[in-house]
Amino acid sequence: MANDERDLIFLESVFKNTIWGGRKMEEEYGYEIPDGPVGECWAISAHPHGDCVVSKGTFAGKHLSELWDTRRDLFGNAEGDRFPLLIKVIDAADDLSVQVHPDDAYANEHENGSLGKHECWYVLACHEHGHIAVGQKARSREEMAQMAADKRWDDIVNEISIEPGDFFNIKPGTVHAILAGTLILETQQSSDVTYRVYDFERRQADGTLRETHLAQALDVIDFDTPAPTSGKVTAPEIDGVTHLLTCKYFEVDHVCVADEKVFAQPYPFLCVSIIKGAGSVTCGGEVHELKKGDHFLAPSDCGDLTFTGEMEFICSHI
Ligand code: ZN
Repeated sequence: MANDERDLIFLESVFKNTIWGGRKMEEEYGYEIPDGPVGECWAISAHPHGDCVVSKGTFAGKHLSELWDTRRDLFGNAEGDRFPLLIKVIDAADDLSVQVHPDDAYANEHENGSLGKHECWYVLACHEHGHIAVGQKARSREEMAQMAADKRWDDIVNEISIEPGDFFNIKPGTVHAILAGTLILETQQSSDVTYRVYDFERRQADGTLRETHLAQALDVIDFDTPAPTSGKVTAPEIDGVTHLLTCKYFEVDHVCVADEKVFAQPYPFLCVSIIKGAGSVTCGGEVHELKKGDHFLAPSDCGDLTFTGEMEFICSHI
């Protein structure tokens, strides 16, 4: 007997026009996106800058933030004043700014109580000789300030060759830039605080430069952690599941479905993003068709998820 209240939660994505965005989300996933360059799809989000609306079922029409506030039982009665995660697809037709994010303590103090931003990237697609920038080469605040004053950006950022399937853990304080030609599935804390270090002196449609925030960036950059050299995933695949990351805020896994896979859902909630293939998921007697580009939330106590088809997905939970 299906319990409608514990059915999977499908959401309407929120799309963002950005100076560096493209049209790949339409081509790759068939999303109905706004005109112009679209850089971000906020697929599972309750952030005030993009609060997704439930697209079908018992809670259709409600914002995710409202469900979090009024139906915390759906989220295993998890604590916190806001839904903690934000799942995005990022289409970088051009380079994103070189940027860094603060941690919780700095963001809380300097950004009106915002969360910090720990993020991680799964590379969905990239140019044949694609690159990404993670980590900085400056070893102190003074050195970084001098290099920035001299505009030695190429000497500051650490570029890494990438391939589809690579994964990067971007802790707060890590300088980074998603570079042209890259399509990424991002799992992050629900935060929209970015300190731009450098934006390639690129002009917006109205001729102005986007704001940079070097002073704040220098405050938050972690000069001690060495930059990574590769995003290759070394964790073993066990029964179709590859564990990508455990951090203070979330855990992320990559899952392959070949024919059928029963997936337990013991967490307060589970975010699922289909990144390849198609099939269906059955939960509580309800069957939902799935294809790449679909995202959903599995609520607390929804029971096992039975996936059928040939698919890959990324899932995350707190
Ligand atoms: Zn970022």
